[in-house]
Amino acid sequence: MKGRFAPSPSGRMHLGNIYAALLSWLSVRKAGGKWVLRIEDLDPQRSKEQHARMIEDDLQWLGLDYDEGGYDACNGLYRQSNRHNLYLEALKKLNESGLTYPCTCTRAEIMATQAPHQSDGRVVYSGKCRPQTMPSTYSQIEQAHATRLYVPDKDIEFCDTVFKRQRVNLANECGDFILRRADGAWAYQLAVVVDDAAMGITEVARGCDLLISAAQQSYIYSILGLKTPQFAHFPLLVNESGQRLSKRDKSLSMEHLRTKYTSQQLIGHIAHAAHIIPHAEPCEPRDLVELFSWECIPATTSLQAPLL
Ligand SMILES: [Zn+2]
Repeated sequence: MKGRFAPSPSGRMHLGNIYAALLSWLSVRKAGGKWVLRIEDLDPQRSKEQHARMIEDDLQWLGLDYDEGGYDACNGLYRQSNRHNLYLEALKKLNESGLTYPCTCTRAEIMATQAPHQSDGRVVYSGKCRPQTMPSTYSQIEQAHATRLYVPDKDIEFCDTVFKRQRVNLANECGDFILRRADGAWAYQLAVVVDDAAMGITEVARGCDLLISAAQQSYIYSILGLKTPQFAHFPLLVNESGQRLSKRDKSLSMEHLRTKYTSQQLIGHIAHAAHIIPHAEPCEPRDLVELFSWECIPATTSLQAPLL
């Protein structure tokens, strides 16, 4: 069993990240598995080495030890920015499947299409650039336009550990989606599948805002002939107004939290909010391993964050 924590080094960790890391870590430790730290720095503008170093420091301070990965491991191969060749390899395979095609739409064109927008702001791609007949014979790699992956108009099914049976029709939820942008940047969906498969990840635990992504990723796994990991999506922590915790809220940043609380107090508060313990008593992550089970975590989209 192998799980992972895959933060973007775009700022200091905050309460929501600690909660996500704790649940993934507990699931791995309970199963006697390995926990991997992967640095998701695909966005060079927002990613900074100093942030990655602080994430490592914060995890250590919290008592969430990892067995593999981190900024320096294997000459930086646990950083997505160093994994271009693996993504290119996967893209070639996807092109060979005949299910990809070039998209020349501008952002404005995509936003202006008649296809419905999802409530969370996602836009369903209209299929404007989709070839008349699929499979296509698209094989260009060094392109000046985006590459999209055709999605069938049928349900993709998987069983989530927390949310149980899921049926997602990608044609309705997102339409044909991007694998690589026109500027050469890799899409999250492709990079995550390639990395999780290459690193032997068997459990992907993360916030339930990524449930639709799990269907997209399952679809990519199936085309590449790779084994899909078990997905465990958990409710997002929200503030008193029901809003998702944000990096902008400085009081929930580790920078602030570490001056105000001990790591044991913080872990206790989070474990209580996650329904793992009945009272917010200070504790070490390792004290929670025996108490933790995915059964503790309610299958709701949000949980009240501890009032810190
Ligand atoms: Zn297009």
